[in-house]
Amino acid sequence: MMKNRVLVTGGSGFLGSHLCERLLDMGREVICVDNFFTGSKANILHLLDNPYFEVIRHDITFPLYVEVDEIYNLACPASPIHYQHDPVQTTKTSVHGAINMLGLAKRLRARIFQASTSEVYGDPEVHPQAEGYWGNVNPIGLRSCYDEGKRCAETLFFDYHRQHRLRIKVCRIFNTYGPHMAMDDGRVVSNFVVQALRGEDLTIYGSGEQTRSFCYVSDLVDGMVRFMEDTDDAFIGPMNLGNPDECTIRELAETIIDLTGSASKIRYTPLPSDDPLQRRPDIGLARETLGWKPVVDLRAGLARTIEYFEGVLRSL
Ligand code: NAD
Ligand code: UDP
Ligand code: UDP
Repeated sequence: MMKNRVLVTGGSGFLGSHLCERLLDMGREVICVDNFFTGSKANILHLLDNPYFEVIRHDITFPLYVEVDEIYNLACPASPIHYQHDPVQTTKTSVHGAINMLGLAKRLRARIFQASTSEVYGDPEVHPQAEGYWGNVNPIGLRSCYDEGKRCAETLFFDYHRQHRLRIKVCRIFNTYGPHMAMDDGRVVSNFVVQALRGEDLTIYGSGEQTRSFCYVSDLVDGMVRFMEDTDDAFIGPMNLGNPDECTIRELAETIIDLTGSASKIRYTPLPSDDPLQRRPDIGLARETLGWKPVVDLRAGLARTIEYFEGVLRSL
């Protein structure tokens, strides 16, 4: 039987590895393309003996010639430490990478999914953020390589759609967490969980009054796949995916201390520049069009994430 062949760029990263696994479970053949900048072999080790899974080490800022039926474009470092390490490369990954993947999709007439981000809303002046909001982004700040790169990628997706009638699905992902997050990537959930498990102080940046809304990875992957599988070619997004349950960073720290039973204390350090004060998705569109909503609550998702990091720390 011929299986549908799916390309996942960034497939060895946090979200990409879960997506590859889900697609294989759905009976697809998966080609994972990754340059292993922030991804790791460990995230996809359990998939390597599957004959329908293939890995290509490749940087998507360079052209790629493969034959596939669908493309999920996730390649891009997502945490500030990593995307600010080489900001020019970050913009290139979003922009040149999008051009190459769109060129590939155009040649193959393949449907293509873009992992965009809530960061396109910048430090939002409206709350919660619905897809119609254009955002409040600093074009020249430290986060701009990521935010503006992703905004330009959205522009490219919509122009390839209008100009070349490409079938696109653009999704704006809000903060997501779970197993396979990199331990050292500085994102708040992995930082706090590892600090709590090691009995170190939890580092809150700023007052801890800033808010985020955290989505567990299985819920997010579910939304991504439902969106891509939706055969209505007029339904292209952009569409928010995330968990609308908002909490302050201080509440997150306290919950993680509670769940780990850690003796860790909280330490306050300065807030990085351009750090958004609040963020919560309006997921009305995903709910109405896909019937999708997150089902894993924060405590349950954190418990699974803590279990994962306990395993990682044991193996060090
Ligand atoms: P991640 O850093 O774990 O994964 C990104 C993957 O892309 C890594 O495996 C990395 O090696 C690879 N990569 C980076 N540059 C590349 C290049 N030039 N060529 C090929 N591969 C490259 O991050 P993630 O959290 O899994 O994020 C995946 C996607 O989802 C990203 O596009 C990110 O912007 C988006 N996103 C994630 C979140 C979140 O909360 N995790 C939120 C919004 C958007
Ligand atoms: N591209 C690719 N794989 C393909 C087809 C195209 O990587 O299978 C790249 C190619 O490098 C090109 C980019 O996608 O620069 C954009 O392609 P498009 O056809 O839109 O533009 P053009 O080739 O006309 O510049
Ligand atoms: N944060 C924090 N301590 C940390 C890491 C992050 O207080 O050790 C804060 C950060 O300043 C931000 C929030 O937690 O306000 C979420 O940060 P993250 O980098 O995970 O995501 P993003 O800022 O991209 O939403």
